[in-house]
Amino acid sequence: MDIKNMKPESIAAQGLGWIDDATRAISPPIHTATTYLRDEDNQYRSGRIYSRDQNPTYDQAEAVLTALEGGHQTLLFASGMAAATAVFQALTPGDHVLAPKVMYWSLRNWLKNFATHWGLQIDFIEMDSPAAVQAAIQPGKTKLVWIETPANPLWTITDIEATCRIAHAAGALVAVDSTVGTPVLTQPLKRGADIVMHAATKYLNGHSDVIAGSLTVNADSPFWQRIRSIRAQIGGVLGPFEAWLLTRGMRTLYPRVRTACVSAQRIAEHFEGHPLVAEVLYPGLPSFAGHEVAARQMIGGFGGMLSIRAKGGEAAAIAVAANVQLWKRATSLGGVESLIEHRASVEGSGTPAPADLLRLSVGIEDVGDLIADLDAALKLAHA
Ligand SMILES: *Cc1c(COP(=O)(O)O)cnc(C)c1O
Repeated sequence: MDIKNMKPESIAAQGLGWIDDATRAISPPIHTATTYLRDEDNQYRSGRIYSRDQNPTYDQAEAVLTALEGGHQTLLFASGMAAATAVFQALTPGDHVLAPKVMYWSLRNWLKNFATHWGLQIDFIEMDSPAAVQAAIQPGKTKLVWIETPANPLWTITDIEATCRIAHAAGALVAVDSTVGTPVLTQPLKRGADIVMHAATKYLNGHSDVIAGSLTVNADSPFWQRIRSIRAQIGGVLGPFEAWLLTRGMRTLYPRVRTACVSAQRIAEHFEGHPLVAEVLYPGLPSFAGHEVAARQMIGGFGGMLSIRAKGGEAAAIAVAANVQLWKRATSLGGVESLIEHRASVEGSGTPAPADLLRLSVGIEDVGDLIADLDAALKLAHA
């Protein structure tokens, strides 16, 4: 069967059906070499010279991601932040950029504290409103629109197609942080985006044991070549063992994400209207502001991330996190183990997270156990 006709589940499970030529191994080797032998006639016919950005251990993970996103090419980076910042560094000082008010906090901080000093002109807007995008975009001057959907930590949904129409009409590229969406649920390139970024640290690897990032592009361009050379020159790359772990983690991407989606939906429905919960934020709830767009744009589920606002304010929220047993109090997301976090404590000033908000990353444990543990913690927090 031609790989092109296969469902993404099959592509992921077998890592594109890759077999090692030398040994017939069905799992890939880890290449630790930093340098490669030059041919006697002074050529490098293997195509590899030096491992700063040419390690063969990246190849399979990059090829799998390209296939799952329906893109042209993928580059792995040492972290999600290394991937995201490479896109902004490929711009030119003076360029205008639109970024969302609600977005991954560490990238927002970098944009505010570094990228603006370096000369980018950045407006942080309500990216979930096409009217706001239309009002803020400057044709010819805006070079990049950065989307995150669903966006941390309120799970704000941005309409990728509508935003791309406005951006492209003004001559701007669109990049999407699809970390929470994952290729299982959202394929931004197929909806018009130019670049999709992942913190591969999260769902793609899925086991809370690798820091990694990726960019996948829909077509080659001078802008993409600039990103390639930024990676090659700055060297923000993965070690071979981390790349190998990521390749392994992606084999189970589909069942992990699907399980997390089903459980997150059940958890959201259970705690919506709960006497000790003020509000549940989850794109899968019909009451959620972005639900309709999410239902159109996300395939087969609304993701494994949700937030709950505890009745009783900040103290109650922190007490709930203190009283869970099964959920783990930790930052990050997208692993097989469920995590809970008082988000405002992490993000500090400038956070859009209300003080009573707990961010939940739903793993693959029994959903009844997860609900019972949170129920008990809510009761203890109010005892
Ligand atoms: C974690 C995360 C990042 C940053 O990824 P790192 O691998 O931690 O650098 C970016 N965007 C989102 C949505 C994330 O969750």
